[in-house]
Amino acid sequence: MITYLQDFISIFYPKICLGCKQPLVKNEELLCLHCLLNLPQTNFHLLPDNKIQKIFTGRHHFHKATAFLYFAKGGIVQSILHHLKYKNYPEVGILIGKIMGTKLDEDGFFNDIDLLVPVPLHPNKQKKRGYNQSDMICHGLEKAVGIPISSQNLMRTAFSESQTRKSRFDRWLNVEKIFAIQKAEDFIEKHLLLVDDVVTTGSTVEACANKLIEIPGVKVSLLTLAHA
Ligand SMILES: [Zn+2]
Repeated sequence: MITYLQDFISIFYPKICLGCKQPLVKNEELLCLHCLLNLPQTNFHLLPDNKIQKIFTGRHHFHKATAFLYFAKGGIVQSILHHLKYKNYPEVGILIGKIMGTKLDEDGFFNDIDLLVPVPLHPNKQKKRGYNQSDMICHGLEKAVGIPISSQNLMRTAFSESQTRKSRFDRWLNVEKIFAIQKAEDFIEKHLLLVDDVVTTGSTVEACANKLIEIPGVKVSLLTLAHA
């Protein structure tokens, strides 16, 4: 009876795929099978000196760094990120995190990772959005690969990036103030995987990494959902 009702309702209010906007069929959630099978994967994790590693040439060197999907204007990845960040769809982050985890795990990407660390949001932003999209991606990864998440230790302070002038030195001071670590001892000798939704210039994740590598014996790697 319930299934009948659901079918009946979906004739009038069909759920649509967040990627291609086509109606979803039974057993499809958020994204249709076609979109799931055609995610534009980069496979950067198979290339030691890939495009993401190159962003950080001469800056912080991540132990390994990769982005799972290509971002294209008007494409499926833009739509996924838009729903995840601005349309209150935390579950699409979990779904893609799970797919990304399963796929990269086949190639041993997580073998030496101890903890998943989502890049924290500014507290005001998180309050407004209700969740941190990188946390959601981590939840999906955790489901796929079983590595625990540490989402409280690396913190974003209430300090705002626009509070100082834009000289290089000011920016450096800024970055020093943006992130803080609560209990450094929890990260000693750990290989941390920083997780973010998208990487562009890399300055945010670099700031995180610079803070983290102050801890003895820490290794930091980077995984993002997309490369813009
Ligand atoms: Zn679709």
